[in-house]
Parts: sequence; C-alpha cells; structure tokens
Amino acid sequence: MKNINFPFEIFPTDKKVLKIKEGIYWVKLFLPSMISHVNVYVLDDINGITIIDTGLFCNSCIDHWRNILRNDFNGKDINRVIVTHHHPDHMGLMGWFKENFNIEIWTSRSSWLTGRMLTLDNNKVMSQESLNFWLSAGMPSALIEKKRLEKPFNFGDFVKKIPLGYRRVIDNEVLTIGNKKWIVRLTDGHAPEQLILYCPELKIFISSDQILPGISPNISVYPTEPNANPLAEYFESCEKLVKIKDSDYLVLPGHNLPFYGLNSRIKQLIDHHETALKRIEEYIDKNPKSAFDIFPVLFKRKINEPEMVLALGEAVAHLNYLLNCGIIKREVSDEGVNLFVK
Ligand SMILES: [Zn+2]
Ligand SMILES: [Zn+2]
Repeated sequence: MKNINFPFEIFPTDKKVLKIKEGIYWVKLFLPSMISHVNVYVLDDINGITIIDTGLFCNSCIDHWRNILRNDFNGKDINRVIVTHHHPDHMGLMGWFKENFNIEIWTSRSSWLTGRMLTLDNNKVMSQESLNFWLSAGMPSALIEKKRLEKPFNFGDFVKKIPLGYRRVIDNEVLTIGNKKWIVRLTDGHAPEQLILYCPELKIFISSDQILPGISPNISVYPTEPNANPLAEYFESCEKLVKIKDSDYLVLPGHNLPFYGLNSRIKQLIDHHETALKRIEEYIDKNPKSAFDIFPVLFKRKINEPEMVLALGEAVAHLNYLLNCGIIKREVSDEGVNLFVK
C-alpha cells in the first residue's frame, strides 16, 4: 500500500504483550469467534496503568488478562478502563474489570448506553424484527426459514453484565494519562460515538475500529434501525479525522497490525466506499435491485452463508446512503422486499 507501512511484521507468537514504545503496550487477544483477534492497549499511568478495550467475555480473554496483569505488569493497579465502543470484542470484559478490580469505566455516552441496552436482549428464538429486516433486504426465503430456527445472537452471551455508572468522555476532551495529554475524538458510522485517542507528543493514534488496515471497517444497518444511514456518518467522521495533521503518527488499530500513514489510509477507505457506491449506482440503473442483488458489485466475491447477515447490513448501508442522497428511489415488492431503482 502506497504511503502505508507496518513497523511490526507480526505479533510475536512467543509473547503475550509487546512494548510499542516506553509506556505503551500492545496486547493481542485471541477470540473464539468469526473475528480471530482484537487488539487492546495498556498505557502506563500515574501509580498504575490505564487499559484501552477489554476483549470478549470468554475464558481465553480472562486467562490472558490474569496472566499478563500478574507477569507483565507485576500486579500494578489498574486506574481505569477506557472502552472505545460497544462491540463485544471491545466491551466484553468491562464489567469483569469493574467487578474484579473496582476500576473506573470511561467511555462515550452512546457506547455505554448502547452496550447496556443491548444486554437486555435474551431471546430464545429469532426476533420477528430480524426476520423482517432480512426479508426486506432480499434474503432468499429458504434461508430466512433456516434462520428462523437458529439460536439468535444475544449480546449478553459475549459481554459481562455492565454495571451501573461510568465516567462519560466527550468529543475533543483532553485526557491526562501518565503525564501525557491525549485528545479524544468521537466518531460515527462503525459504532455510535466510537472513541478515538491520540497523543501529539508521543505521535500515537489509537484508531479502534474506525480506521483499520487491510480490511474496511464494518459499516452496517441493523434491524434495530432499518433506515439508518451509517455510511454518511462514517464519511463525516473520516473527514474530521483527515483534518488532524497526520505528520507521522503510529496508528494502533482495533484489529490487524499497527501502521504509519493515517491520512493515506483514511483516504483509501473513503475512496473504497465511493467507488463501491458508483458501481452500485450503475448496476441499479433502471432495473430494481434489492440489497441481496447488489452483492456481486459491492463485494466482487461470493458471499457465503455465515457472512450473509453482515453482508446484508453493509449492502443496506450503501443503498440507504444513495437513497438519502436522492440518487435512487425505494419501492416495496408484494413480498415485502425493498427494491431500489434510479
Ligand atoms: Zn467494532
Ligand atoms: Zn472490533
């Protein structure tokens, strides 16, 4: 990739923690899920450490934390846990840290509220709203019938109970961690009010899942808000981030490898979605298409069944964007499928 380079080729297999530079540590947590791992970070703080993100609520993440807190951080006090966004791979052990170490939880209001709200779901059967959403997105009826019988995803199965009370972090706030100043930016599109942190003095930029190398962050519409337009929010947030003087930040992402080339990567991601939108617009032309129908032009590869739900969410996100721009129109077929036409 032009202007983007990776100072670490891999996360060393014989280590549980990698020192990025003085006072900044990278921890790669392996996950028993479709996503293989998540990166979390530990920062030296006054009389202790600050942890950025937690991993999933699962035994392997808990064992990993117990091991490194004892052996690599010598039982240092945990001053606080900062959670970047509400997704289970980032927030899953927030409640576990609170319960075991009585730490302060720092996060954005939307992250805390969304996470705590989603733990209310304890569905035994697939919700009708999810089935309706997939139907409207054009999922084949045989697959909908199969999904109807599947065990639904319950957020609370992967996220430890979220305790009452947190410390709200707001956009543009400056946090002091150790003796360094870290600037907060809240971003949207991937998750509401996803928290990003950067330290101009250390030249470190913690991008969470907003800016990832190698893969484009998931920008999806969910059954909770079928008319959402997250791609517009993502563009808007990226435009804000691209204004930060890039110089030479080392970017620490939520997944994959740390990299240099923040602005180049943001521009690549914007370009990736803009060219996908153009392909979709041309493909739709005068022939009505559902979200499912646009898979070949959006992804340019075969989508397998386990990826189907995520792919539909992404496809709807792109169509809702074009719809909100007034470029395409939406009609509903007799079967209840949303069809988009120019
Ligand atoms: Zn995420
Ligand atoms: Zn993630």
